[in-house]
Amino acid sequence: MELTPDLQEDFDIVVRRNPGEAEFHQAVREVLESLGPVVSKRPEYGEMGIIPRICEPNKQIIFKVNWQDDRGRVHTNRGFRVQFNSALGPYKGGLRFHPSVYLGIIKFLGFEQIFKNALTGMPIGGGKGGSDFDPKGKSDNEIMRFCQSFMTELAGHIGHDIDVPAGDIGVGTREIGYMFGQYKKLTGRYESGVLTGKGLDWGGSRARTEATGYGTVFFAEEMLKLTGESFDGKKVVVSGSGNVALYALEKVNQLGGTVVAMSDSSGYIVDEKGIDLAQMQELKETRRGRIGEYAEANASARFVPQGMIWDVPCEIALPCATQNELNIGGARALIANGCTLVAEGANMPSTPDAIRAFRANDVRFAPGKAANAGGVATSALEMQQNASRDSWSFEHTEERLHDIMVGIHERCWATAEEYGAPGDYVLGANIAGFIRMADTMMA
Ligand code: GLU
Repeated sequence: MELTPDLQEDFDIVVRRNPGEAEFHQAVREVLESLGPVVSKRPEYGEMGIIPRICEPNKQIIFKVNWQDDRGRVHTNRGFRVQFNSALGPYKGGLRFHPSVYLGIIKFLGFEQIFKNALTGMPIGGGKGGSDFDPKGKSDNEIMRFCQSFMTELAGHIGHDIDVPAGDIGVGTREIGYMFGQYKKLTGRYESGVLTGKGLDWGGSRARTEATGYGTVFFAEEMLKLTGESFDGKKVVVSGSGNVALYALEKVNQLGGTVVAMSDSSGYIVDEKGIDLAQMQELKETRRGRIGEYAEANASARFVPQGMIWDVPCEIALPCATQNELNIGGARALIANGCTLVAEGANMPSTPDAIRAFRANDVRFAPGKAANAGGVATSALEMQQNASRDSWSFEHTEERLHDIMVGIHERCWATAEEYGAPGDYVLGANIAGFIRMADTMMA
């Protein structure tokens, strides 16, 4: 899509200033493509330079992380924390440990995070961090030493009123625990609200683990309601098998749908009888095994080592693995097989041409910054509980999460309608998130 001349100029500056950071450029462009109608309606945003101010992170921290493996060898990785925008609250966003991490990935995630966090309506700014450290195949002790070294470098930059990291790919409760322990040791403070995604006994929130996956399904449920549909009886494909995918599976099951395929980096499995949550949890959360083992243990399932999970026929697709995992080939396969709804559990899993194909073929599409906001929203609920030294029940927390997702859906829907693009959740999410931030920055 074409950008207006002013927005094109803003975009050119981003590309020039951040050379080689393809994912960041993609994320910025996708947002700017939605903002034409707002900036023409509100010229004061242009005068105050709001867009270039949002596209430039407040602060970017890059640090060296040395850590020792079990044989005593020392390794060096690179750590990042991009503190993108704090108009709405302390920087908030996860940490990703994955070999693909470089500054451009962290910036794209941080940029998405500002809009996502704004959409939740909660008092959280946007940030993101991580490392190119590869947790795969590492022992528990190696993970611990890496996390401690990482926090040794990061601790001086975060705090419950400054910047509150959480998990993302490669960072779960175990890693948050090692980092929280190190932060406590370094600062001498039991500062519960400095990290979210903590364990229940030490300041974590019930339903935080489930929140992103549940939230994505709640969002999709709202989309379905508009046409009088529900998950009941629907065939669903969920890519990934991490925290987001597992709890999307659980919620789809609870709502009467059937998840017929899931994946990891080694391939995907298909089980027309519906994937069993308990077995998948045991395989992925407890044993950290490969997805093919599920097919070995289940006669009704088959493992497809290469290839594309989007070839599996379904009515609803929930991409919950990673960025750009659903390209134009995947989109065409989904459309050809009758898929009518895509809601993103991961961050930016669909490529721009895949999204265009969904639009052109009337596939309802919810972008990650709206559909996966349940994770960070529940992190904000964890911060609330920490601030009041309280601990809520699962039911109460899930109900809050549900209300937040219904609210985000409503905001996206109403904004798209207001700007003459009914049903366009991309436009609705980008504009609604932007206006809340822009107005706050103006104020
Ligand atoms: N990593 C998650 C996200 O992409 C959660 C961040 C958080 O809880 O702070 O939104």
